[in-house]
This record gives sequence, structure tokens and C-alpha cells, in this order.
Amino acid sequence: MRPSPARTASALADAVRSGSTTAAAVVEESLAAIAHGDGEVHAFVTVLADDARRQAAEVDRRVAAGEDPGPLAGVPVAVKDNLCTRGAPTTCGSRILEGWHPPYDATVVARLRQAGAVVVGKSNMDEFAMGSSTETSAFGPTRNPWDTSRVPGGSSGGSAAAVAAGFVPLALGSDTGGSIRQPAALCGVVGLKPTYGAVSRYGLVAFASSLDQVGPFATSVVDAALLFDVIGGHDPLDSTSLDRLPPRMASVVGDGVDGLSVGVLTEHLDGAAPDVVRRVHEAAEACAAAGASVEEVSVPEVRYGLSAYYLIAPAEASSNLARYDGVRFGLRVAADDVVAMNTATRTAGFGAEVKRRIMLGTYALSAGYVDAYYNQALRVRTLIAEAFATTYRRFDLLLGPTSPTTAFALGAKLEDPLAMYLSDVCTIPSNLAGHPAISVPFGTGDDGLPVGVQLMAPALAENTLLRAAAVVEAAAALVDGDGNAVGVEEQR
Ligand code: GLN
Repeated sequence: MRPSPARTASALADAVRSGSTTAAAVVEESLAAIAHGDGEVHAFVTVLADDARRQAAEVDRRVAAGEDPGPLAGVPVAVKDNLCTRGAPTTCGSRILEGWHPPYDATVVARLRQAGAVVVGKSNMDEFAMGSSTETSAFGPTRNPWDTSRVPGGSSGGSAAAVAAGFVPLALGSDTGGSIRQPAALCGVVGLKPTYGAVSRYGLVAFASSLDQVGPFATSVVDAALLFDVIGGHDPLDSTSLDRLPPRMASVVGDGVDGLSVGVLTEHLDGAAPDVVRRVHEAAEACAAAGASVEEVSVPEVRYGLSAYYLIAPAEASSNLARYDGVRFGLRVAADDVVAMNTATRTAGFGAEVKRRIMLGTYALSAGYVDAYYNQALRVRTLIAEAFATTYRRFDLLLGPTSPTTAFALGAKLEDPLAMYLSDVCTIPSNLAGHPAISVPFGTGDDGLPVGVQLMAPALAENTLLRAAAVVEAAAALVDGDGNAVGVEEQR
């Protein structure tokens, strides 16, 4: 069933700033929606009701004092539980961090607060962001608001579901191999993975540091742009943060695609379900109808993305997760000596998927195998980046499916890691290259569940990406609820 989304963030912030409603009222509405619906969906690990009410009161005080509380005044936001929130639990969906309360806010969280947004809770996720279904969370799975027998995608499934269910108009997620875009696609919302370095990773618990990026979920492209504008821009606390002016995307979203060239990436059509492929073609037609030149293009190197990713990401994870030793964070299981304590803590604290990644990564990095696996994967990563660079000389954007299928049933892929990993086949190449990409909802598949189309662009071309996303979004609005596209031409 099509869930009803919250009002847009832009509309809510305008209403709060102009005094036609209060942040307190907006936040109460969000908390009530969560109280009513989250028992079934389980989008949140922690709801921060008292904190949220305090933040809302502060926004209202500023409005009353004639101050401007910021572009997201009073807007409720869900924050993925791998982003540090000062004094509030940050679990990463793992037992190993239970009881840990970070002493600081992630930069993106601090920027949300500065913009007047209200953090209403921490959203559920696959443990340490390893997964594509939010089923590896130590706190139980999140369910897809469209059909609660289906997964919401992952790893940021809680954030995607919170927006899709109408609990909040905006959410933050992180995307290492697709964890914003794939759940956005499966839940029928917009999800943007920015250029690597465009958004600060300070206070994002590291999974694979060379791939991780924080980004927005929203119900519309304009709202995603608005949130990206708030969280993006240089941060001296992140050594990989790009030193550039903060983005201002919300203003270019309506500029259209006239004169742009769009390549439909054939490798990503190959393994995708026919109903998903049909939607991609309709989105391509919509771009053409709006004045873009559209043709198919092959980039064979992307086929190796999945294999390279599942060496590079676990390798970095095995190193990053070494810090959870029972001494510095969260859980400690007592034992006779330090090594036994480390072992007992990690054995009890990590779930099966995290252990699998640590073992894969440690193996790929081990002396004797590092050249055959990790270093070879790095060479493949370079080949993919070069192939994209060549392709982007001819095309402004690439288009394809976000996920090869619509939302699958809970449990369907849990026992088969390879099948689970394959749901990221279309999203991973952009992470390896460090490029931005966005998933935009485009109608439904044969099962009535949402389909997302993915637009990809070269580094720092978020403006082009968002312009095209808005065109696709407008065409999607003409797609009817029975899964048939109607009148795509009419929007010309
Ligand atoms: N599903 C992918 C993985 O498990 C991607 C996860 C992510 O982007 N955080 O590694």
C-alpha cells in the first residue's frame, strides 16, 4: 500500500519561520506518527522525544524573538544510528556499542541543529552498515512501510522507512556501497549519495573510510537538495573533506535538462528485472522529452565493481573495527586476561555478517594474499574510475536502475550472502569512483512496490544530478498507481 508521506520539509520550515505553525506542533505530529506506526515498521532504534521537544521549544523561542532559526526550522529529522549524537545512544545497530554515549555531535548533526532542524531519533540500520536489508541489526529488522512482509533495503533502512512511512520528512543515512540509494529505491523516496568529500564524515562511525559518505533522504528532490545544502561543505575536522564553498543546490533544481546528454548504462540493465528495466526506459524517455540527448552506453569495467568492493570494503572494515576491543567503547565481557576479554567481547558483541566481513578483510590484507586480493582490487578500482572519466567526456549523466529488483521478502536473502551482495551491483561503482549518484522513485513494479531509477554524475556535479532528478521526478508524478506510465510525453 502506498504510505502517505509527511508534508515537505520546505513547506514545514516556511510555516514555522512565518509563525503560521510552531516547531512544537510539527514535532508533536512527528512523535505521534512514530508512536502510532513504528511498532510495526521499527524504523527507530531510539526515539529522542524529550530532546526533540527541547529543540523545538528553542526554535519557537527564536521565532518569537524575531530571529531566523534557519532553513530547516522545526523540521523533524531521523538520523542513522552510525552518526554520533552528543549524549544520546549511538549503536551502529550493534551490541558492541550498547551503552556508549558519544561526547560530541557528528558535524552533519551539528549542522542540522544550526539550521533549526529537530533530531527526533536514531534510525535502525544493518550492523555497522554491512547489509542491504536492515536485517543484520542487533535490534531486529525494519519493515518496508509499503508492505511489512518486505525489507526496506539497507543498510540505512530505518532512515528510508521513516521517511516513507511519513514519520519524518527528512533523514540522514550513509552510503558505502549503496546504503542510501538502495533503501531509497525500495521504499519509494529520494536518496542522494554525494561526491566523496562533499559532506563531512566527522562523527560518522567508520565502515570503509575511502567509500563512506553521508547523505540525505527526502520525499522530493528539492527537499534532498535543501538538506544537502545544510550538511555539505568543508569541515576542517575531516581530513578528506573537500575545501570548497558550501553547495547551494536547492536553487538549481528547477533548471531542467535541455541540452544535457544522458547515457543509459547497459551493464546495469542486464541483470535487472524486466519491470525495473521498463521504468528506466520510461525515465530515459522523460529526459529526452525534456530536451536531453539520450543514448545507450556500455562501460564494461563496472561489471568488476562488486568483486573489487567486497575486497576493499571488508579490508578497510577489518582495520576500522579493530578498535572495538572491550576497552574503549560500549560492551566489555569480563575474562581472566586482556586477550581473553578482547575475544569474549568481540565474540559476543559482533553479529555474523560483521564477523564475516572482518575475516574476509583480514584475509584479503594478510601477507601472502594482499597482492592477489586487496592490491588487485585497488587496480580494478582505478580502472573503473578511468572508465567513468572517459565516459563522462561524452555524457553529463548516466542513468540506470538503483536496485535490480523491488523490495524482497524478509528472510529471502539472509542465508545467502552472495545474493544479498548482488543487490548493490548498480550502486557500488559510484562509491569506488567517489562520484555522486541519486535514486529517484519512478512508479512501481509488477508487484506494486516502488522502483527507483539511479542517475550518476562525475565528481562535484551534484547540480546536474539534481536538475535531472527533478525532471525524472516530474515524469514519475504522471505514472499511475497501477504500475503503468501515463502521459510521459505530456510534460514536454
Ligand atoms: N550493502 C553494502 C554492504 O553491505 C553496502 C553497505 C553500505 O553502503 N553501507 O557492504
